Amino acid sequence: MSPTELATGTVVPTPRTPADTAVAIVPAADVDDLRGRVHGPVYAAGDEGLAAEVATFNLAVRHTPAVAVGATCAADVAAAVTWAVAHGLPVAVQATGHGPVRNAAGSVLVSTRRMQGVTVDPVRRTARVEAGVRWDKVLAAAAEHGLTGLCGSSSGVGVVGYTLGGGMGSLGRRYGFAADSVVSVDIVTADGALRTVCADSEPELFWGVRGGKGNFGIVTSLEIGLFPVRSVVGGGVFFAAEDAAAVLHAFREWAPTMPEEVGTSIAVLRLPPMEELPEPLRGQTVVHLRYVYSGGDPAEGERLVAPMEAAGRIVLGSIGPLLPTEMDAVHMDPHDPMPVWEKGMLLAELTEETVEAFLAAAGPQVHVPLVMAEIRMLGGALAREPRVPNAVAGRGAAWSVFVLGAMVPELAEVLPVVGRGVLAALQPWAAPGGLVNFLGDVAGPDEVAAAYPPAVRERLLALKAAVDPAGVFSSGHALTPRS
Ligand SMILES: Cc1cc2nc3c(=O)[nH]c(=O)nc-3n(C[C@H](O)[C@H](O)[C@H](O)COP(=O)(O)OP(=O)(O)OC[C@H]3O[C@@H](n4cnc5c(N)ncnc54)[C@H](O)[C@@H]3O)c2cc1C
Repeated sequence: MSPTELATGTVVPTPRTPADTAVAIVPAADVDDLRGRVHGPVYAAGDEGLAAEVATFNLAVRHTPAVAVGATCAADVAAAVTWAVAHGLPVAVQATGHGPVRNAAGSVLVSTRRMQGVTVDPVRRTARVEAGVRWDKVLAAAAEHGLTGLCGSSSGVGVVGYTLGGGMGSLGRRYGFAADSVVSVDIVTADGALRTVCADSEPELFWGVRGGKGNFGIVTSLEIGLFPVRSVVGGGVFFAAEDAAAVLHAFREWAPTMPEEVGTSIAVLRLPPMEELPEPLRGQTVVHLRYVYSGGDPAEGERLVAPMEAAGRIVLGSIGPLLPTEMDAVHMDPHDPMPVWEKGMLLAELTEETVEAFLAAAGPQVHVPLVMAEIRMLGGALAREPRVPNAVAGRGAAWSVFVLGAMVPELAEVLPVVGRGVLAALQPWAAPGGLVNFLGDVAGPDEVAAAYPPAVRERLLALKAAVDPAGVFSSGHALTPRS
C-alpha cells in the first residue's frame, strides 16, 4: 500500500519536519578522519547516499544528521561515538527506522542495519542478535530448533529497539515483555567503551537498559531468551462496522476470561479504497479481532475463540493453525513505509462505560481521520516483575490503547487534536504511565519520563546522570540527565 494514500486514497507529498533544513556543518577533514576510523560508509550532510542511509519507516519523520555512519561492527559503533563526543555532537541510532520519535537533526546517526548476525543456542534457548536484525530473521533461525522469540505485531521491526523499549507481543501474557528475557547486553556507552552487561556485571546498567531504550548507549548485540512454541492457533477476523458495539462489548467480557496462553486485541480500522486491499475491506471501516493461542492444544485454541467469532458478521479473515514465523498474519501491519501520527495510553480497566466512550470517540459511527484505534489486552506475565527486575514501564496496566493516522499534509493540524481527543475521552479509566514503544508523539523528555512509575523514573534519571551525564544520547525517547 502506498503510504500517503492511506487517509484519502490520493497521492500527496510526504511531509517534512521543520528541522529538515537544520544541519550541522562538520569540516570535511574531520569527516575524512572519521572515515579512516570505521569500516562502514560515512556520509556527511549533502552527500549522496545520506538520505537512503537514514531513511525511516515512519515518513513523517525525516532524519537530517550532520553525519551518518553505516556501522558494520561494535568497533565501528565505538569509533563513531568517540568521534562524535570529541566533536561535541549528539549521537542517534537507527536500525530499521520503525520508531523515530523526531528528527535527529545535527547528530552523528549510527545506522546499524549492516550488523546482521544471529546465532541460536538451542540448548540454552537463547539467541545472540546483532543491532541491525529484524524479528523475521530471529524467528526463522529459532524455528529450526522448535523455538521462537517474543516478537510484536510486525516481524519487520528491529529486535534491539523493540526489546529495549519493553517489547510487547502476542506471546507476552505467557512469557512477559521481550526485555524480561534478555540475558546480556553489549553496549557502547558515551565514554566510547564497549561493555557487556548482565545480571552479574554492571547490574544497575543491566536493569536500566532493559526498558530505558536508547538512553544509555548504543547496543551492539543482545542475548535474548527463546521459547518452545512450534505452532499456535491464531489469526485475525474483520467484523462489519454495524456490529462494532456488539463485538467490542463481547470482547471486554470475553478477553479477561482467557488464560495467559492467549494474546488478543481489537481495533477499529478505517481502510482506504486501495486496490491492494481485499475487496471486502477496500474503503471500509471494520472491527479487527486479533487472536493468538500458544497453549499447544489446537482444539482448545479454536474453542476459546469461538464465542468471539460469533459476536458479529465476519466480512473477512480466519483463525487457525499458524507457525510462529507466520504471525504477521495476526495483525497484518503494513509492510511499506508511510507517514503516521500515533499515540498511546494505558487503561486500568475496560468497563461497559469505557467501551461506550471508545465507540463514541473512535467508533465507526463517528467521522475521525484515524486509520486505527486499538485496544490490546495486557496482564499475565506482562504484569509480573521478571526474575531479574528491569525498568520496563506499564507493568501495572490491564490494557493498552493506541491510535494512529496517516500524517498527510491536509491532516497535519487536525490529526494530533483528534487522536489526543480519543485518548482524553478514555482518561477516566486510565492507568498511570505508558508503554515506551507505544508513546508515539511525545512533547519531550518530561513526557518520556512520565511513562515510568515514580521510583523507576528516579532510578533511571540517576543512572542517566551517571552513564551519560552530558546527554550524548539525546534523540529518540531520551531522558534529560539530572545536573
Ligand atoms: C508496524 C509497527 C509495529 C509495531 N509493533 C509493536 C509491538 O507489537 N510491540 C511493541 O512493543 N512495539 C511495537 N512497535 C514499536 C517498535 O517496537 C518501536 O518503534 C521500536 O523502537 C522500533 O525499533 P527499530 O529499531 O525497528 O526502529 P528504529 O527507528 O531503527 O529505532 C527506534 C529507536 O530504538 C532505539 N534503538 C534502536 N536500535 C538501538 C540500539 N542499537 N541501541 C540503542 N537503542 C536503539 C533508539 O531509541 C531508536 O531511536 C511497532 C512499530 C511499528 C512501526
